[in-house]
Amino acid sequence: MESELAAATAAAPVLAEMAPRQRAEALVAAADALLAAADELVPLAMEETGLAEPRLRGEIKRTAVQLKLFADVAAAGEFLDVRLDAPDPEFVLGPRPDLRRYLVPLGPVLNFAASNFPFAFSVAGGDTASALAAGCPVVVKAHPGHPRLSDRTAQIVGAALPAGALTVIHGQDEGVAALRDERIAAASFTGSLAGGRALAEIAAARPRPIPFYGELGSLNPVVVTPAALAERAAGIAEGFAASVSGSAGQLCTKPGLLFVPDEFASSAAEAFQSVAPHPLLHPGIVDGYTHRRTEILQTAGVTVTVEGAVTDDGVTPTLVETDLATLLKHRDTLLQEAFGPLSIVVRYTPGEPLGAALIDLIEGSLTAGLHIGSAEDSPWLHELVTDLQALSGRVLFNGWPTGVAVTPAMQHGGPFPATTNPTTTSVGTASIGRFLRPVVYQDCPQFLLPLPLRDDNPWNVPQHHSPAGESAAWGSLA
Ligand code: NAP
Repeated sequence: MESELAAATAAAPVLAEMAPRQRAEALVAAADALLAAADELVPLAMEETGLAEPRLRGEIKRTAVQLKLFADVAAAGEFLDVRLDAPDPEFVLGPRPDLRRYLVPLGPVLNFAASNFPFAFSVAGGDTASALAAGCPVVVKAHPGHPRLSDRTAQIVGAALPAGALTVIHGQDEGVAALRDERIAAASFTGSLAGGRALAEIAAARPRPIPFYGELGSLNPVVVTPAALAERAAGIAEGFAASVSGSAGQLCTKPGLLFVPDEFASSAAEAFQSVAPHPLLHPGIVDGYTHRRTEILQTAGVTVTVEGAVTDDGVTPTLVETDLATLLKHRDTLLQEAFGPLSIVVRYTPGEPLGAALIDLIEGSLTAGLHIGSAEDSPWLHELVTDLQALSGRVLFNGWPTGVAVTPAMQHGGPFPATTNPTTTSVGTASIGRFLRPVVYQDCPQFLLPLPLRDDNPWNVPQHHSPAGESAAWGSLA
C-alpha cells in the first residue's frame, strides 16, 4: 500500500497541471487500451465472476465509452466552473474586488471497487474515470471477487496514464489503512449498506475528515397502475422477470418490489420459471442471498409464486407475493435489499394514497418506476410521481430500472441508504463534481493566477463573466 499511496501522491500535481486536452487524450488512450485487451480481460472476468461473455463484452465497451465521455468532459473545461467577477467600484454593497473562482482536484482518491460490475464499477470504471477527469490519481481497493482481473486492468489502463495515476491495493485491512491515510483526499464505494456505512464512518472520524461517496443497496420500487395492467399485463410480466433475473439479480437497480392493483404474480410465474441457473459472484453473496431469501420465504403473510433455488449450479429466480399490510408489519425483514434474483409483488388498493405509503415504507432508493396506461392522467398519478421523486434519484416510466445509461443527464444516486451523499451521482458527467473543490482568487495579479483564470485564457476553457455595473439591476428580472 505504501508504494501505491506514494505514487498517487507524486502523480497528483502532474495530473492537476495537465491541460484539459492532455488529460482528455490520456483518458482516450486508456479507453483504447482497455478495448484492445478485451480478448484477454473478458475471459479472466468470466473465470473470476461467473458472469456471461455477452454481458462482460457489453460491459467492457460501456467502460471504454465512459472513459471517452469523461475525456470529452475534461477537454471541454466546463467542469472547472470558472467564474470571473470584474472589480466593481459601483457595486451596490460597496466596491467589489476582482474575484476569480474555479474548481481544483481534491487529490488522491481511494475507490472501493464493486463486485458486480468487474469493469464498469471497478478498476477502470465510472468512479475512476470521473476522478481522473477531475485531475485526481486513483488508488483502487480491488474487490476480492476479481483480484487478478483488477491487477491486469490496472496494468493495461495505467500504462496509458501518467505514472502513479492508477494503482491497485488488495485486502480489507489495506483498504481501511488507506482510507485512514492522510494522503487520501476522498473515497468512493459501491457495495453493501453495512460495508459502506462502516467505511463512511472511518472517513468521517479521521483527524481530517474526507468526503466519502458510497453507493449502497436499493429496493427500486416499481408501481403498475390499473390501466397499465389492463393494457399490457403480459409485457409487464416479461420485462419484470428479465429485469429481476438479469445477471442473477446482482444489480443495485434490480426492482425489488413491484406494486400491482390486482392479482399479477401468477401471470409472471412462467417468465420467472423459464430462467436458467446463473452463478452468483462470490461466496459472500451466496451466503447473503441465501439468508435473505430464507427470511423472506418464511415471513407470515408472504406467499410463494415461484420458489426458485440456490444450488451448486447457480441460482434461479424467486418470486413472492404479499400485501401492503404485511409489508408494513414485517418491514424489518421485507424491506431490506435481497441481492440476487428475488422480488416481492405487493398488492395495493387502487385510489388509495399509495405514494404516502411508499414514503413511509421505503427509505431512499436509487430508482422508482411507474407503469401507466397510454391515456392515463389523474391527480392520484401526479401525487404519486411527486412521492416517487421524494424517495429516489431516478423516476422512470414504462420501463425497468436495470440498465443505467452512461450519459450527461444520468443520475445514479439517491437519498440514504441508496447513497451516503444524496447531492451527487456515481454515473453521468455530474459525477466529476465529487472530486473537485472550489477556490477563489481575490485581486491576484495576472502572472500569479492559475491558467484557467487568466484573461488570456491559455487553456481556452469556458469563463463565465460578471461585468461591473450589474448589481444595480439585480432583482429587476429584466
Ligand atoms: P461489500 O461486502 O460491501 O464489499 C465491497 C468492498 O468494501 C470490498 O472491497 C470489501 O472489502 C469492502 N468492505 C466491506 N465492508 C468493509 C468493512 N467493514 N471494512 C472495510 N472494508 C469493507 O460488497 P460486495 O462484496 O460487493 O457484495 C455484498 C453486498 O453488497 C451485496 O449482497 C449487496 O447487498 C451489496 N452490493 C451493492 C451494490 C450496489 O451497486 N449498490 C453492488 C454490489 C453489491 P473485503 O471484501 O476485502 O472485505
